[in-house]
Amino acid sequence: EAKTQGRNRHSFFTASMQESATRQRKLIKDLRGALEQEQLEVYYQPIIDLKSEEIYKAEALIRWHHPEYGFVSPVEFIPLAEETGLIIEIGEWVFQQAVNQVKEWRRLINPDFQLSVNKSPVQFHQETPSNWAESLSRSGLSGNAITIEITEGLLLESDQSVKDQIESFHVAGIQVALDDFGTGYSSLSYLKKFDIDCLKIDQAFVRNMEEGSEEHILCEAIIVMAHKLGIKVVAEGIETEQQKVLLVSAGCDYGQGYYFAKPVEAKMLTAQLIKEKRCA
Ligand code: C2E
Ligand code: MG
Ligand code: MG
Ligand code: MG
Repeated sequence: EAKTQGRNRHSFFTASMQESATRQRKLIKDLRGALEQEQLEVYYQPIIDLKSEEIYKAEALIRWHHPEYGFVSPVEFIPLAEETGLIIEIGEWVFQQAVNQVKEWRRLINPDFQLSVNKSPVQFHQETPSNWAESLSRSGLSGNAITIEITEGLLLESDQSVKDQIESFHVAGIQVALDDFGTGYSSLSYLKKFDIDCLKIDQAFVRNMEEGSEEHILCEAIIVMAHKLGIKVVAEGIETEQQKVLLVSAGCDYGQGYYFAKPVEAKMLTAQLIKEKRCA
C-alpha cells in the first residue's frame, strides 16, 4: 500500500509541477501579445496623507486580463517579463500611461498631483537607458509629477550606470522611493548614499503590527531614522484601523492599503478625487 501511495504522491507532484511549467510557458508566450491585444491595464492605488487623511498621490500598478486564465497577478507575470526582457516594453508603456494620467489629474483636480511608477532593476540595465526625465518634459510636466519606485537589490549593485540614472532623476526633480523596505539587505546608509526621497515600509511589517510587537518597534525606529535623514515614509499594506493608529502615533507620513482604498481603474479614482475635492 505504501508503495502505491508513494507512487501516487510522486505522480501527483510531477503532474502539478508540469502543470505550472506549462502555465508558465503559456504565460510567457501570451505576454508577448498582451500589450498589442490590449489585455494590460494600469490601476491606481491612492496613497494617503496620514495627517489630513486625504489622497496625496497614487501608485500605478499593472493588471493583466488574460483571455483564458482571467486575472493574472503581477506577482506572477512581472518576474516572467523580467526574465524575457519584455519588462522593458511593458515598463515603458506603464510609464507613458502614468504620464498621461497624471497630466489629466493635474489639469482636472490638483496641479500638484503625483504618481508613483515601479521600475524593475532590469529596466536600469537596458543598453540605451530610457530617458524618463526627457519624456516628462516633452509632455509638459515637471519632474515632480512622477516618483520612481525602486527595490533594495538595485542599490546593492555597484553599477555606475545605475547610480548615474538615479542621479539624473534627482537633477530632473523626479523623486525616488525605495519600495518594500526592510525585506532586503539594504541598510540605512544606502538611503543617504543614493539620496532616496522616500521609503516604503514593506507590508510584512505592517501586517503583523500590534502594539509593542517587534514589527511595531521596528517601524518606529525606521521612521525616526528616516526622518533624521530627511526622508519621508510610506507604510504599505495598511488594512486595519489599529495599524493606522499605531503608524500615525509613530509619526509615519503616508499610508497605502486596503483600509483606505484598493487599486482601481483610472476613471474610478477620477470620480473619487472629484468627490474629495468637492468636500474640501
Ligand atoms: P509593490 O510595488 O510593492 O505594490 C504594492 C502591492 O501591494 C500591490 O500589489 C497592491 O495591490 C498591494 N496592496 C496594497 N495595499 C494592500 C493591502 O492593504 N493588503 C494587501 N494584501 N495588499 C495590498 P500588486 O498590484 O499585486 O503588485 C504586486 C507587485 O508587482 C508590486 O509590488 C510590484 O513589485 C509589481 N508591479 C506591479 N505593477 C508593476 C509595474 O508596472 N512595473 C513593475 N516593474 N512592477 C510592478
Ligand atoms: Mg511599488
Ligand atoms: Mg511595495
Ligand atoms: Mg514589490
